[in-house]
Amino acid sequence: LTSSQTSPGLHVVHIAAEMAPVAKVGGLGDVVAGLGKALQKKGHLVEIVIPKYDCMQYDLVRDLRALDVVLESYFDGRLFKSKVWVGTVEGLPVYFIEPLHPDRFFWRGQFYGERDDFKRFSFFSRAALELLLQSGKKPDIIHCHDWQTAFVAPLYWDLYAPKGLNSARICFTCHNFEYQGTAPASELGSCGLDVNQLKRPDRMQDNSSHDRINAVKGAVVFSNIVTTVSPTYAQEVRTAEGGHGLHSTLNFHSKKFIGILNGIDADAWNPATDTHLKVQYNANDLQGKAENKEDIRRNLGLSSADVRRPLVGCITRLVPQKGVHLIRHAIYRTLELGGQFVLLGSSPVHHIQREFEGIANHFENHDHIRLILKYDDSLSHSIFAASDMFIIPSIFEPCGLTQMIAMRYGSIPIVRKTGGLNDSVFDVDDDTIPVQFRNGYSFLSADERGVNGALERAFDLYTSKPDSWQQLVEKVMNMDFSWDSSASQYEELYSKSVARARAAAHTQ
Ligand code: ADP
Repeated sequence: LTSSQTSPGLHVVHIAAEMAPVAKVGGLGDVVAGLGKALQKKGHLVEIVIPKYDCMQYDLVRDLRALDVVLESYFDGRLFKSKVWVGTVEGLPVYFIEPLHPDRFFWRGQFYGERDDFKRFSFFSRAALELLLQSGKKPDIIHCHDWQTAFVAPLYWDLYAPKGLNSARICFTCHNFEYQGTAPASELGSCGLDVNQLKRPDRMQDNSSHDRINAVKGAVVFSNIVTTVSPTYAQEVRTAEGGHGLHSTLNFHSKKFIGILNGIDADAWNPATDTHLKVQYNANDLQGKAENKEDIRRNLGLSSADVRRPLVGCITRLVPQKGVHLIRHAIYRTLELGGQFVLLGSSPVHHIQREFEGIANHFENHDHIRLILKYDDSLSHSIFAASDMFIIPSIFEPCGLTQMIAMRYGSIPIVRKTGGLNDSVFDVDDDTIPVQFRNGYSFLSADERGVNGALERAFDLYTSKPDSWQQLVEKVMNMDFSWDSSASQYEELYSKSVARARAAAHTQ
């Protein structure tokens, strides 16, 4: 296997289930790639380990080749072989693990949603550590993400540190505490973890179903650093209402737990260079934005009769977390207020998908409303560019990326004040916030009145004070939501943790 280089910076290995753009379902994929690139730019050696899915975008991997060594890792009482591939994605070195297991774990045509997900990803977590051990790598930080690779933390301390892979501190980032990876306790044994030792209230036992184990809880207990994706969400999950059952565990481990706001990839999301757009534009040339609005109206069959009619955009997974009933309400309220609405979204929840198909059909040839119920990256760029306002009425939102992308494209966010939305969108009418930070509209109560209030205030400024609106658009386009400052915070956490470990080793 390839050997590690020595570099003056830190050696960071991310073990994850997603990486944009080759294997992306949501924000997790964006973070692994965005944070990885930002840390690499700062001079650290960053490597990524992900599964080799059959449904990846192989055309976006450079120089993909199989290593000539076969990896052997333990599962269900015996050793299984895995093939290991290496390639470069967005300038980052990536290892792809292809298990040669009869269940063909990553040959399913989709990333998640399989009945044996717990098995698939506990196998992967162990194989990834085996790869680091067998290749003789000595990382300073192993950074795992979400429940799919949460197994890395207990596996590292219980099995791999004793085997000699002991140079690293473990960092775990939870991107959404709604998904915790719970299973009957016996299933934990497959990857070699000791169920009897771990099924305890202070270790991996689920806090509400005591005969189950909880992978995210295990990572919180066993990692050196635990992060989530915004400061407000970090506070929310420490309360009984917001903690999805893990608030007591997070409070117990609060010293190592912190919220850091995600950034966005400022190269991938840049209206001045975006090749998906009809016309590129920037904050000093908003005529280009108007042309994108005209273009999407034509393509989607919306009326172009009134150039000034505001266009409200919404791009989202349609799941209860996102406030689907409030999104539905916003469509109707926008129409009443004289605006146009474009929704791009798809739902893994059957009855929600059906409900929105009903609304889409109802408005099929409507002059002002269009619902496109699928995942379409290219169309998402066009909608960010075309829209004047962007609505995100989430019930909870760990970080949220679309409010930041919308601002970069000059679309004013209208959001519910929760999680990362509360840390990135500041109401233009909130006198307690310094003027230079105010950049959108927010509301607190998760109901129709809340949506109405914010939407009406936005429409009012748009129609009655076009100059102020344009100044607001220019201002939000110039705000910095890149990874720079967030990556510095991770860098500091990593460095402090590594320094503490070294100091402790010296005193022993
Ligand atoms: P989450 O991770 O909860 O889905 P985020 O706001 O953190 O929400 O990230 C969502 C990402 O997925 C954004 O980059 C957004 O543009 C993209 N996205 C969501 N739905 C769609 C869709 N139907 N088509 C294209 N992109 C989408």
